[in-house]
Amino acid sequence: MPVLDSLPKDPNSVSRPGALREQVPVSEPVPAVRAGFFPSCSNPDCATGWMHLLRSRAVPIFEGGWSCSAGCTERRMEAAVRREMEGRSPETRLYQHRIPLGLLMLEQRWIDAGQLRRALEAQRRSGEGRLGSWLVRQEGVSEHLVARALGLQWSCPVVSLPFHDREAMASTLPRLFLDAFGALPLRMATRKLLYLGFEDRPDPVVALGVERMLDVRVEPVLVPDSEFRAAHTQMLSASFPRVELLEVSSQAQVGRALSRVVEKVKPVESRLVRMRDFLWLRMWRRQSPGIPADAAQVEDVVCAMERP
Ligand SMILES: [Zn+2]
Repeated sequence: MPVLDSLPKDPNSVSRPGALREQVPVSEPVPAVRAGFFPSCSNPDCATGWMHLLRSRAVPIFEGGWSCSAGCTERRMEAAVRREMEGRSPETRLYQHRIPLGLLMLEQRWIDAGQLRRALEAQRRSGEGRLGSWLVRQEGVSEHLVARALGLQWSCPVVSLPFHDREAMASTLPRLFLDAFGALPLRMATRKLLYLGFEDRPDPVVALGVERMLDVRVEPVLVPDSEFRAAHTQMLSASFPRVELLEVSSQAQVGRALSRVVEKVKPVESRLVRMRDFLWLRMWRRQSPGIPADAAQVEDVVCAMERP
């Protein structure tokens, strides 16, 4: 009773349970501890005002910001979707101005003109396959030499894969990105540097996406064909994070659908990154962000977007 007696008499509140909380007057400054525990809503258009301090939720967190309600999470997600989709254009001109692989190998005297001519001819006749594979398959050129040439062509290191810890690496990406981008997470060099392997060309857009998502520096490297394919196939059987594939027809729907998932999972952190034609939402259940110790600590949502 002494507690109740010390509060201002208010006929509207005294009789109801929970009234103590509701009696905080509007003008009262927010106690510092509570303000720190429940930071202000990260939705810039939030209309809830100081009332959100009374809401007992500490999660979900999206891109480092707490939101006071499902509506505010949705506004923030919509803004993030707009941000990711902005300036998106058909990405076909990315790979211009490279010295053709054949010329480069010829210049290095790794092949002769006859080998190049026959490989080009075989590639043209079959209408498929990369020149490098034709040189290996038909002209007996070593795979490592082709990989070295590709490394020169893309100014990108070439690495061998004596050992690949596929379980440790499986928590870095959704499984479907391995196929969609021909990317293979190889290993962490330090806690802040991830080697991301590619078969024939490094993909800077994918590397940047992973960097933004995981807070690590990503170094794209090339892996010789047969090693890449063997490791890639083996990795598909590792334990990847749970992933939900979202089918939506409009950009507005994506924001709504993704925010609903965030509200349901209530992650301690979540982020949205576009990886070419995919939007990738990652949610950390416990520790965040970065690469989780095991795949069960995160959940992914992947949404394929139509080409503009
Ligand atoms: Zn809010």
